[in-house]
Amino acid sequence: MQPGIVMKFGGTSVGSAAAIRQVATIVAAAHTRHPLVVVSAVGGVTNELYALVRKALAGESTTEALDALIARHRTLAAELHTPHATLEPLFAQLADIVRGIALLGECTPRAHDHVASFGERLSARLVTAYFATQGLPAVALDAWDAGLVTDRRFGSARPLPTCEATIRQAIGAVDGLPVVTGYIGRTAQGEITTLGRGGSDYSAAIFGAALGVDEIQIWTDVDGVMSADPRKTRTARRVDTMSFAEAAELAFFGAKVLHPATMQPAVKRDIPIRVLNTFAPHVAGTLVTARLAPHQRRVKSIATKDRIRVVNVVASEMQFQWGFLAKIATAFERHEVVVDAIATSEVSVALTVDADTKLDALVADLSAHAEVEVIDQVALVSLVGEELQDRRGFAAEVFETLAELDVSPRLVSYGATGNNLSFVVETASLPKVVTALHAKLFERES
Ligand code: ASP
Ligand code: MG
Repeated sequence: MQPGIVMKFGGTSVGSAAAIRQVATIVAAAHTRHPLVVVSAVGGVTNELYALVRKALAGESTTEALDALIARHRTLAAELHTPHATLEPLFAQLADIVRGIALLGECTPRAHDHVASFGERLSARLVTAYFATQGLPAVALDAWDAGLVTDRRFGSARPLPTCEATIRQAIGAVDGLPVVTGYIGRTAQGEITTLGRGGSDYSAAIFGAALGVDEIQIWTDVDGVMSADPRKTRTARRVDTMSFAEAAELAFFGAKVLHPATMQPAVKRDIPIRVLNTFAPHVAGTLVTARLAPHQRRVKSIATKDRIRVVNVVASEMQFQWGFLAKIATAFERHEVVVDAIATSEVSVALTVDADTKLDALVADLSAHAEVEVIDQVALVSLVGEELQDRRGFAAEVFETLAELDVSPRLVSYGATGNNLSFVVETASLPKVVTALHAKLFERES
């Protein structure tokens, strides 16, 4: 039976026995839609696997950390009155690989992905075993046994174009309810890969698109996509409906709810994504879809990156130079520095990068053609919403609010899609900027 819906459960949704019970209830209630379940690693486990590698490389003992990771899974199984036999061989394999890394004092990207893959492989087996105790005929599948073949870009692998066919074939042959690992894949040569941190959302979309399901559900621990980070803005509210384009903008600009690549497969097959809360399953969540009704086209959310850096590049010869932008772009590419927002004039470019980006070599390179200045302690604010540019006075309202706070934006980017107005302010003024903008743009409408 081909699945009619993909249900992906994140780390906190499989992070405790109570949560896993809740997951089983949610999946059982959806049985008439023939779900395919995608799971993340048990909350925190991927970080622990990364830490294991760091310890092994530093020559520190990994015994305690490894034992803790194993104990956590065994305890979950015990609390769920579920056999853990399917987990045991994986514990042994993981211990072997970590020992190998420690002995060699080296971890290739390939070995790193292999270690990182254990979280999802363990959780898929654990969840499947528990489902079986609840009468759900679940079958645990590693992503490759579900047809997901990727390229060899370890750490950020992408599915091969042939995947749609291989996934349909593999899932078509499954007798029961498939519970598939998120986040991971395997190359045609049999090497394990990962899709990047937070990649289980992307896995869900890949499987959903390949199978042509009606809906891709992302079950998480918040009520949906919010109008601002609820930990910082207490008045943040749930966004009912947003477009794929808006969700993609938000994912890139710091909102952690959906992995940025998730929208691609969904857009291609026009499959709606619904973000839902495992711990409040009756809340309607956020529906992400291709088209919005006119009244839904307004500002949706304020996303922030609290710590970024601005790189100001001013051409040395104060005249228009052919290829100035190209030279800058090439330098960023050569040093593999990822850029978020850009603002340009004829002779200068300002770009934002993550605060942790190493810039020395890039700056040295750029200095051959330009004066370069790096500004720290700044934050990026992005206002995301469809057709923002068509809303009369929108930009004026935003900058008026900044003026009232006596804050002047450092860099402003109001891009081609019109979905995103981004600007940079000092990190110190970020809280008051977000509070004031949230109040102005969202709270008066209620
Ligand atoms: N477990 C992986 C991570 O922590 C993938 C995911 O949760 O989506 O990044
Ligand atoms: Mg996630």
